[in-house]
Amino acid sequence: MTQINPMAPVMVTGATGYLAGHVVKQLLEAGHTVHAPVRSPDNADKLKYLNAIAAGTQGQIKYFKADLLDEGSYNEAMAGCELVIHTASPFFLKVKDPQKDLIEPAVNGTRNVLNAVNATDSVKRVVLTSSMAAIYTDNTEIAKKPGGVLTEEFWNETASLTHSPYAFSKKLAEQEAWKMMKAQDRWDLVTINPSFLLGPGISPETQGESYSVMTQFGDGQLATGVPDFRVGVVDVRDVAMAHVRAGFTPAAEGRHITSGYDSGFPEMAKMLRDEFGDKYGIPKSTAPKFLIWLFGPMINAALTRTVVSRNVGVDFKADNSKSVRELGMEYRPMETTLVEHFQDLVDSGRIKAK
Ligand code: NAP
Repeated sequence: MTQINPMAPVMVTGATGYLAGHVVKQLLEAGHTVHAPVRSPDNADKLKYLNAIAAGTQGQIKYFKADLLDEGSYNEAMAGCELVIHTASPFFLKVKDPQKDLIEPAVNGTRNVLNAVNATDSVKRVVLTSSMAAIYTDNTEIAKKPGGVLTEEFWNETASLTHSPYAFSKKLAEQEAWKMMKAQDRWDLVTINPSFLLGPGISPETQGESYSVMTQFGDGQLATGVPDFRVGVVDVRDVAMAHVRAGFTPAAEGRHITSGYDSGFPEMAKMLRDEFGDKYGIPKSTAPKFLIWLFGPMINAALTRTVVSRNVGVDFKADNSKSVRELGMEYRPMETTLVEHFQDLVDSGRIKAK
């Protein structure tokens, strides 16, 4: 049982990111003081949305300069914190140098943050943002699991520098965190393992993989047909809440699959079409698998033929019951997430009517 003093500051890494923006927002709304180590604390433009949220709440935010790759750079921000929420990690599906662009910041960054935890006596709990990608690599693995469903007991086994390197980075980073937690007994570790995050960010300038996929549902890129990627979908605001609850629930322990719905791209397109009709370039049909296999690698380097063969049209199934039982999660309807996310892209001018 780990009791966190709500008056102590909470450190959140990656506060400028999509997910962490909501984590920080929820902490500020609950009146906490947030210590936010960011790469560019002097970039007022990048921090204006977080500052506007802070100005409208009882909470306070303080910025510090830190980089996942700079050893010791998190020590100052962590001073006096009992709870550390470590979300920062590069999330790119297309990378030139997976070792340098993904593995090093994810793994060395986690080690760097946890070395600071080891050096900061006040810290009692670390909540780490891992991923479903640390649990499985390809959908073809899922049917072979007991009951054909993913649970917290699994780790991806086939991700590597050349196949799904992002999943590889998330597994290595989470395993490093568990190793460092087990080597001491002052702080404990709780991980949040989300599926694909969707839903509006805290600012109209939010970027990243989640935004880029949602944009493709409306800008006509998938007009010839949506690939039948079968994925877990979860609202970014629900996952932010899971982080806060994981921090302040004394009995929270271990890993937590945070995935609202077992779904897929065709269902997402249908839900969006039901709401927005034909006004935007929302796909109307599903692309045949052989066409994606043939042309995918030319359109997107991450869409290798192995990725297409093992994932397109192959079901995704995950058990989120631990998050419901232990963190009290209630996942908002998927339609709400999709419609609000799409509307955010329309409002910010990134998706235009045909
Ligand atoms: P995001 O918007 O790209 O945020 C990533 C954050 O990490 C940014 O604040 C970025 O800072 C920071 N960062 C990256 N490299 C850094 C470095 N070298 N030093 C310091 N900070 C660095 O991504 P996100 O979608 O919110 O993802 C956040 C976390 O959720 C990641 O751990 C990701 O693996 C995990 N996750 C995401 C999804 C999803 O669908 N989006 C699903 C499961 C898990 P800058 O602003 O300075 O670039």
